[in-house]
Amino acid sequence: CHFFLSVMHSYLVAGQCFVPGSDRFWGKMNALVATSRNFKRAAKLLGLDSKLEKSLLIPFREIKVECTIPKDDGTLASFVGFRVQHDNARGPMKGGIRFHHEVDPDEVNALAQLMTWKTAVANIPYGGAKGGIGCSPGELSVSELERLTRVFTQKIHDLIGIHTDVPAPDMGTNPQTMAWILDEYSKFHGYSPAVVTGKPIDLGGSLGRDAATGRGVLFATESLLADYGKSIKDQRFIIQGFGAIKNPKGIDIEKLLQHSAENHGIKGFNGGESINPSSFLTEDCDVLIPAALGGVINRENANDIKAKFIIEAANHPSDPEADEILSKKGVVILPDIYANSGGVTVSYFEWVQNIQGFMWDEDKVNAELKTYMTRSFKGMKEMCKTHNCDLRMGAFTLGVNRVARATVLRGWEA
Ligand code: GLU
Repeated sequence: CHFFLSVMHSYLVAGQCFVPGSDRFWGKMNALVATSRNFKRAAKLLGLDSKLEKSLLIPFREIKVECTIPKDDGTLASFVGFRVQHDNARGPMKGGIRFHHEVDPDEVNALAQLMTWKTAVANIPYGGAKGGIGCSPGELSVSELERLTRVFTQKIHDLIGIHTDVPAPDMGTNPQTMAWILDEYSKFHGYSPAVVTGKPIDLGGSLGRDAATGRGVLFATESLLADYGKSIKDQRFIIQGFGAIKNPKGIDIEKLLQHSAENHGIKGFNGGESINPSSFLTEDCDVLIPAALGGVINRENANDIKAKFIIEAANHPSDPEADEILSKKGVVILPDIYANSGGVTVSYFEWVQNIQGFMWDEDKVNAELKTYMTRSFKGMKEMCKTHNCDLRMGAFTLGVNRVARATVLRGWEA
């Protein structure tokens, strides 16, 4: 579980990037094109009214801000920050803030949309949002990161809030980033811990939040394998995001974590042989868990995937072209909006605890998470039966239908 968590925060496959506004780059589909294509297929299966379909797709609000900070050497540096608030029919908008050099408006837009369907699949009372700053966090000092986070917060503080939009960590950000956002926000609005989730425990963060995405992936994987009469211990896994090593006899995770902590990476680890990152995803295995960037499984490599099951721990790791190729090969894909929903689910528990002013113990958090993950799996499977579709469309129809119902009930045509 710690391993799942750790891999969420680093990434392995490099060398591919988006060109904003373009439909593809090196075989990789534009994230917004890919996500919207999945949404439209679900809208069709659900028989949604075309006006409602359009209204669900278009984001509620898109914010773009310029963040200029003094660097440690006294020079000025400018970064572009985004917050896309996609939908709030079911509650406050919710989603992470990503610090990464590939952050671009289409990608943030796609990720915000995915959050709307994800919170609906998890059946937690939220809409969807996502933010990001185009920067390389590894090249900035801690004080530069703090200044950048504070300037970004100053620019968006009026548009986020406990009952409007609640940020959280994502790739390149962490509990410390949330602490800075909370502190900066509180200068304008008074101390409000529930305005962000994924905070440090000392500031009202939830026990179990740190490991929640990974633990949720674990529960999701167990549910899927059980559905096929299999269990985790009989399977061979590829988990992306920690570094490219393999050991057919199994990797001692505790030892690997210790080595990585002591040596700042897996280099020199003697419990496995290193492999080429570019062929990592297509190595022989039973279960493949992409757990880093989007679009890594696409029409260029889908045919070479050996796994029988793909668990999408990352957001949109496989695009619709890959889905088509993989489904012809009989590969079962457990989609992101279900598989990685453990993070935002425990974010919801954190928000609830902050609002109640009451802290749950970790066992309660983990037990509730399991209940939510198991329930959503059943809901997704029921939609697969109703609409005679794969798991991706099962999850999309489940989420989109809930948002559509809330939208219609609230009255959207006036
Ligand atoms: N960034 C995570 C995600 O993509 C967590 C979002 C949250 O907790 O609000 O689901």
